[in-house]
Amino acid sequence: MKITQRIVIFIAIFFFVLGKNTFSQTAEIIFSEAQNIHNEVLTIDSHDDIPLNFATEAVDPLNASRQVNLEKMQLGGLNMAFFIVYVSQSERTLENYEKAKADALTKFNAIQRMANEMYPELIEIAYSTQDIERIYNSGKLLAAIGIENGYAIGTDLALLEKYYDLGARYMTLAHNGHNDIADSAQPRAQFNDRYAEHNGISEFGAQVIAEMNRIGMMVDVSHISKQAALDAIRLSEAPVIASHSNARALTDHIRNMDDETLLALKENGGVMQATALSSFVKQQSTEQREATRLILANYGIERISQWWGLTINERNSIKNELSAIDYADVSDFIDHVDYAVNLIGIDHVGLSSDFDGGGGVLGWFDASETFNVTLELFSRGYSKEDIRKLWGGNLLRVWKETERVAE
Ligand SMILES: [Zn+2]
Repeated sequence: MKITQRIVIFIAIFFFVLGKNTFSQTAEIIFSEAQNIHNEVLTIDSHDDIPLNFATEAVDPLNASRQVNLEKMQLGGLNMAFFIVYVSQSERTLENYEKAKADALTKFNAIQRMANEMYPELIEIAYSTQDIERIYNSGKLLAAIGIENGYAIGTDLALLEKYYDLGARYMTLAHNGHNDIADSAQPRAQFNDRYAEHNGISEFGAQVIAEMNRIGMMVDVSHISKQAALDAIRLSEAPVIASHSNARALTDHIRNMDDETLLALKENGGVMQATALSSFVKQQSTEQREATRLILANYGIERISQWWGLTINERNSIKNELSAIDYADVSDFIDHVDYAVNLIGIDHVGLSSDFDGGGGVLGWFDASETFNVTLELFSRGYSKEDIRKLWGGNLLRVWKETERVAE
């Protein structure tokens, strides 16, 4: 359904209800209907970062001062999160490959510890799409695992299956800086990256994609260059995902996807998981960036991710001040969903936050505010079925298809 049709339907519903009610009653009805939908659909956030000391006394998954913890997931009705095994790019030496592998194993262990030892009654790891229905029906939260940066395997194809066995069900091929698999959308001068090293996906990268298809791990094209994304889409037998990316047509950021790539993604049967990272959501002027910096500096921090040391009142004040300078909010975020749905259809778009990795917009600043996303979608005329697809139905279709290809 096109946006215009949706708006017409929404206005029709609005006036039908308005005929019998006052405006505030109408708003209440919309709110409670959105709540019903939020409670009934499986909500999946495809990208949430964790630190190396996750699931230790220092970072308790239940209630640590972070954007995602189990209490906030429950409070916000976020049923499932992909916890991310991220490794940072460094110079490609044998020693650094070993370090990347060690860091990856530390994070796999942390996610396993959270689910298997610390909170088995609250959360369970899904290893297959079949697991998801069973765990969801049990009333527990769900975890899944994604790897961010194919650098985690270095040049060792065999590590893919090892990581799969530890639970990884998608892998972002590269991060910031080129690796042996793919060119990054953001080359790094400090590693002497040229604009393009492989002109897309390398020969080794093609083997990596084939191996991922063989074992049933989803290919994630976020972070890689446009040519690399087009190559991956062409090379992968299974549909691919962009685990946290937005539409370039709305926000001209190199991490976002242009129309050509989005149309190729649609052809491939894949899904773009729109992401609530403010600089990908909304273009900021130099003045706005400076204003943001000043607001944060006033509270003694440089980035919003550092605000957990502040009181709740201070954090709320920051939100109000950011709102006053037109900082990205949930409505701006859902504009990317609208745009992508119009271009490539409701079956190819999903949702992600990039929480604890730089994500967060006003209204969806942590997992406890997840309902605001559903409310915004419903208010724009998306049906329950549409919302189910956006909140993970499409992602699960791709996962299922990846399982089928692997068989
Ligand atoms: Zn990322």
